Amino acid sequence: MKVLVLNCGSSSLKYQIINMVGEELLAKGIAERIGLEGSFVKHEPANGKKEVIETELKDHKDAIKVLIDALLDKTYGVLSSMDEINAVGHRVVHAGEKFSGSVMITQEVIDALEDCSDLAPLHNPPNLMGIYACKEIMPSTPMVGVFDTAFHQTMPPSSYLYALPYELYEKYKIRRYGFHGTSHKYVAIKTAELLGKPLEELKIVTCHLGNGASMAAIQYGQSIDTTMGFTPLEGLVMGTRCGDIDPAIISFIMEKEDMSISDVNNIMNKKSGVLGVSGVSSDFRDIEEAAQDGNERAKIALEIFYKKVTKYIGAYAAEMGGLDAIVFTAGLGENSDIARKEICKNLSFLGATIDNNKNDGVRGKETIVSTDGSSVKIVLMPTNEELMIARETKAIV
Ligand code: ADP
Repeated sequence: MKVLVLNCGSSSLKYQIINMVGEELLAKGIAERIGLEGSFVKHEPANGKKEVIETELKDHKDAIKVLIDALLDKTYGVLSSMDEINAVGHRVVHAGEKFSGSVMITQEVIDALEDCSDLAPLHNPPNLMGIYACKEIMPSTPMVGVFDTAFHQTMPPSSYLYALPYELYEKYKIRRYGFHGTSHKYVAIKTAELLGKPLEELKIVTCHLGNGASMAAIQYGQSIDTTMGFTPLEGLVMGTRCGDIDPAIISFIMEKEDMSISDVNNIMNKKSGVLGVSGVSSDFRDIEEAAQDGNERAKIALEIFYKKVTKYIGAYAAEMGGLDAIVFTAGLGENSDIARKEICKNLSFLGATIDNNKNDGVRGKETIVSTDGSSVKIVLMPTNEELMIARETKAIV
């Protein structure tokens, strides 16, 4: 069985085609500048060289047609007929409270996702565009929706309700949803495999630390708490997002700077985080470099970021009444030995002691970086959201 995995953004579309026999990646690529001048598809067969196809992509439908042509191409293609695509797995960001797992996409599901578009105005509309385009281009191929929010639907009300008037929850579904669910679930499953223990017996804190960053408390295989909330703005400090702040700051800045709601939203989402504090960059590599060169604001930005992650590890260990593993994943979590070391430096009291010999210089591989005697295992686990989407798609189809 071969699964096409699609992740549609507003002007880009990432894809992978995976042969589920042996979970072998056949090709991957990205369509960029959809609807803009200078659009192209970068196509990369697993056993060949990258091809850049420069062509007009008016919309997501054009992009999907071009990527299918690339998959079928005589020179750099990996399929001999479109019928070889047995199913399509769509990444969808927000499924509200409607879905607690992946589902076969039907008209009813599409309607439900349209209803959620208000909750994720930047993400759900392009995700839906990809679904509509596939429906037209390959009407008989089954499609599955895999949702970023679904894994966190197991959170109890004490984790997902805000202390706001209850009517706001009833009227507008204002509550915590959490995101990156596909990644948190994938690395939790893989960590249980690595530790050789059933996931149903483990208490795990997963730290997905990339440009967008979130953590989850996973007790016996279920997410019971997570740092992102109603939107992906809550929780950790991120590349450009502020994470948790005192909500009173918002009206204060609006008054002092004569700003509109959208101005403040823009500041909190695009100009804050480690970029805002350091003034250097949103990329952790640049900030680590600046900090090493003595830039004080870069040092403080990193310290604020690390401290927040450490605080949530402590909070989640307390919430679960114990801890078996701390898992690092995504761009920073997988690649930065400094971040893992700084975040874990005070956690020996919890039984989590990092082993510098195992941690230093290690990136992008499944491994345990805590000392042999550490009762809480500190794990580096590369995420693979596309593979997880393909697995869920296969299971449903
Ligand atoms: P997203 O998917 O949210 O864009 P990623 O998971 O791809 O994020 O992570 C991207 C971030 O990871 C980069 O912005 C960078 O800050 C960080 N990163 C990647 N490689 C390294 C590295 N070697 N050292 C430190 N940080 C890194």
